Amino acid sequence: MISVGEALAAIVEATPVLGAQRVELAEACGRVAAEDVVSARTVPAADNSAMDGFAVRGADVAAAGARLRIVGQVPAGSVRAATLAAGEAVRIYTGSVVPPGADTVVRVEDTETDGDTVVVTEAIALAANVRRAGEDVAPGAVVVHAGHLLGPADVGVLASIGCAALRVHARPRVAILSTGAELVEIDQTPGPGQVVNSNAWALAAAVREAGADPVVLPLVRDRLADVQVALERAATHDAVLSTGGVSVGDFDFVKEALDALGVRQLFWQVAQKPGKPLTFGRREDCLFFGLPGNPVSALVCFYVYVWPALRRLTGHRTLHLPTTRARLDAPVRTRGSLTEFVRVRLRVDGDEVVATPVRSQSSGVLSGMAGGAGLLIVPAGTAGAEAGTTARVILPAGHALATAEAAPELRSDSPADPRSARRGPG
Ligand code: AMP
Ligand code: MG
Repeated sequence: MISVGEALAAIVEATPVLGAQRVELAEACGRVAAEDVVSARTVPAADNSAMDGFAVRGADVAAAGARLRIVGQVPAGSVRAATLAAGEAVRIYTGSVVPPGADTVVRVEDTETDGDTVVVTEAIALAANVRRAGEDVAPGAVVVHAGHLLGPADVGVLASIGCAALRVHARPRVAILSTGAELVEIDQTPGPGQVVNSNAWALAAAVREAGADPVVLPLVRDRLADVQVALERAATHDAVLSTGGVSVGDFDFVKEALDALGVRQLFWQVAQKPGKPLTFGRREDCLFFGLPGNPVSALVCFYVYVWPALRRLTGHRTLHLPTTRARLDAPVRTRGSLTEFVRVRLRVDGDEVVATPVRSQSSGVLSGMAGGAGLLIVPAGTAGAEAGTTARVILPAGHALATAEAAPELRSDSPADPRSARRGPG
């Protein structure tokens, strides 16, 4: 039996990075860039005004009280060719190009206008309120690096340099294959001895969160031939997640079927709880994860092993889910021979995250993982963890937000909130 670390190393080593495809910018958010995008443009293209006010020569306004002659204006979107002379000012608006000869902008708030004369009431620093050409993006700058997950701001920057399409890594297609003679589909009422196939639903959701496309395949009964045919069909995908049938029961055929299909199994059984029966293999470009059937085990194995593999397929540079350190508020007893992933509820207490183990640590009790549980890691070789000690907790995707406190500045009961600031008489 291998350790968690050894199993992860084997998976990451066996997992390729998928090829790239060109997508329109509108489709780019949430994808991983497969190329460095270099700007051919200068953004902003020219020195322009950060304020509504007057473009002037800095030397003219170094002292308060300067009187300048207004010689024209530059509305947004137009340019003024005439060079500004000493003693002159041009009315200018936010974003307008600073005319030649001018090097400073005076805010309209710092002026008083009298006919075609403007009086600058303050001393103004040279180059004030001017946004320099190239201050946002210099020509030749790399605005997006290969391996970066594209977000809305990246999309905006790409638009600003006129990049309407770019190369991103393909989204992995992930087959989900549920094995088990006891399983029924969600629209059926389970009879005696039957259970609804919840794994396929949880895993499809998790695959989507990882930025991959799930393909849920029909249920498979516990017969070697059926399991083999279903796995062979699934092998056209980038990865196959089977659940069930990897333990040592008389009806557990997944390993045998993988062997028969020529899948090179890199390991079977990991020194962990839950999820000990996990098996992993590869045939050509397809990865096979034989996940245990217990719903908690299947999902824990997904987060610990499948998540990083999907991230790698997708071209991410960082593979693992984020973790946080948390202080236990109750002791945890473990067996010591296995790395244990203890389901905990998390709450923020001052500057600390506090972890409370969920009541049932049974790998059949999926509700213990619902409602925002984290996975507290108790490494093999320890007999557990005492109350008051801290440990690392894996946060399922999107989880950090669930435990974090909103910034006081963003709370709706805070005076900093514009909504509450506007309240009051009138
Ligand atoms: P197995 O790994 O096949 O021995 O299954 C272990 C446990 O997980 C059994 O209680 C199964 O009924 C349950 N189980 C297996 N597959 C699923 C599934 N797709 N959805 C929900 N529970 C399952
Ligand atoms: Mg089974």
